[in-house]
Amino acid sequence: MKKIGVLTSGGDSPGMNAAIRAVIRKGIFHDMEVYGIYNGYQGLMAGNIKRLELGSAGDIIQRGGTILFSARSEEFKTEEGQNVAIEQLNKFGIEGLIVIGGDGSFQGAAKLTAKGYPCIGVPGTIDNDIPGTDYTIGFDTALNTIIDAIDKIRDTATSHERTYVIEVMGRNAGDLALWAGLADGAESILIPENENDFEIVVNRLKRGQARGKKHSIIVLAEGVGNGMDYGKQIQDATGMETRVTVLGHIQRGGKPSGFDRVLASRLGAKAVELLLNGEAGKMVGIQNNQLVSHDIIEVLKQKHEIDLDMYRLSNELSI
Ligand code: ATP
Repeated sequence: MKKIGVLTSGGDSPGMNAAIRAVIRKGIFHDMEVYGIYNGYQGLMAGNIKRLELGSAGDIIQRGGTILFSARSEEFKTEEGQNVAIEQLNKFGIEGLIVIGGDGSFQGAAKLTAKGYPCIGVPGTIDNDIPGTDYTIGFDTALNTIIDAIDKIRDTATSHERTYVIEVMGRNAGDLALWAGLADGAESILIPENENDFEIVVNRLKRGQARGKKHSIIVLAEGVGNGMDYGKQIQDATGMETRVTVLGHIQRGGKPSGFDRVLASRLGAKAVELLLNGEAGKMVGIQNNQLVSHDIIEVLKQKHEIDLDMYRLSNELSI
């Protein structure tokens, strides 16, 4: 394989640039031409494709977002859209494609592979919701952004003796909420993977108040429901002054953590190796600190599992 392409698709995540850099440098290291496809599958269909040089990867490892931009495309979900995409790739002589994104983006990569066009997926999403990898690129940075925000909220929560409900991202996965809640000593963590008993949350708040606690933090994953509504219910049930903070898109930005830069560099380079070895339809990942690869179709059939032992631990520690 002499010419490969790389694109970012779906929601962006910090560390995607480090993965792009690894693909460019590893590809060129192996005497390949590397092409950047701008604006995800939308840009692929439009032929928004440019050759990337060594210098294209300069000064990006520390930047959030993605220099290739990202997009969502309904048209690409159709067979005609996918055929147009393959025509464009053939026009540029690109023989294999690396897709950095989440499970939706991997659906697209699987479709192209099924049509005979080799694709490799690199998991990039802050949600950490992709089976077959312990971590996705961007999760660690988003986690640290949340921790930083909660630390700040905790200061003012203590000053005013308030209860705070903090809504964090994660789509249908509770990983960000669970890790942030554990790291920040939250009183309660609400995740979609677990039944959340309102009475238990209320009783825990009242118990804390009775022993003189100055503040309480509840971390709520967006997949559970609306933070504003939940905050109101808590205030009504406890009589405690309750405020709600929805952290929102701040969680998707910022410079990637050291962990995410290293993870992205390893996964991006591994994806290039797979294409060089003639593999197709695979997703790269990390499990027990070992680089792995799995069939994308198999990954898409599985459901992401959260670590419920960690959830139990958080309950024990917030007794
Ligand atoms: P994240 O979860 O982080 O937002 P994602 O990759 O899951 O990332 P999606 O918006 O679901 O984000 O998917 C990105 C793009 O992938 C879509 O806009 C579409 O072009 C393509 N895609 C999604 N699902 C399919 C599918 N079933 N078939 C073909 N292409 C798809």
